[in-house]
Amino acid sequence: MSTQPKYQRVLLKLSGESLMGPDAFGINRDTIMQIVGQVKEVVDMGVEVAVVIGGGNIFRGMAQSAKGMERATADYMGMMATVMNALALKEAFETVGVKARVQSALSMQQVAETYARPKAIQYLEEGKVVIFAAGTGNPFFTTDTAAALRGAEMNCDIMLKATNVDGVYTADPKKDAAATRYQTITFDEAISRNLKVMDATAFALCREQKLNIVVFGIFKEGALKRVVAGEDEGTLVHV
Ligand code: UDP
Repeated sequence: MSTQPKYQRVLLKLSGESLMGPDAFGINRDTIMQIVGQVKEVVDMGVEVAVVIGGGNIFRGMAQSAKGMERATADYMGMMATVMNALALKEAFETVGVKARVQSALSMQQVAETYARPKAIQYLEEGKVVIFAAGTGNPFFTTDTAAALRGAEMNCDIMLKATNVDGVYTADPKKDAAATRYQTITFDEAISRNLKVMDATAFALCREQKLNIVVFGIFKEGALKRVVAGEDEGTLVHV
């Protein structure tokens, strides 16, 4: 019997670092294939999947601007790093038979389509995975904010933030053995308890748009499928 999804259309935020695997930099082949395999499982359930990919495995604007490069220049470089990751992801999807399209918030017409909302929605309706590259297209933002933005624009039912930790904890589980995972938490509770779910701009946008978030660990086998089925996996942050 196939699992019934709780969500029909999801926005999956993958950090650039999630593609690194055990490597110190760049894209690890086994890791990207593992992630793509998890996404395929939910695509096969009939779920429409939009992905926002980060770039921190290649280039992070803020780190470079701290060393003296102008922030805007560094951020454009960061956005281009996300385009590289998006191309790698698209190819990886194709190797497992999942149709995928890349849309970039910065025009690079030889490399990827430029972001166009109606076209992106059409792809989702056709069952294609849409990978959003180049963040918001603006410096001084992050790909978390791009994920909130595209999630709202695509009318996604949920934002799924893939991390290395399997949810939001009462304290840092690496430092505090007594830390426990929240199954669910409201946006307001997360703020009052000073829990960092994602960057403040992204968090505010999700809250305002009533776009709930599930924070979950992508490296647990079958985790994405369980999240999409509405099982107890990760932490649901809700209005
Ligand atoms: N970036 C940007 N505007 C955006 C999204 C990203 O300028 O809308 C730049 C920024 O320099 C950032 C880099 O792209 O450091 C990579 O994105 P991010 O740090 O969000 O990637 P992740 O942490 O998810 O790997």
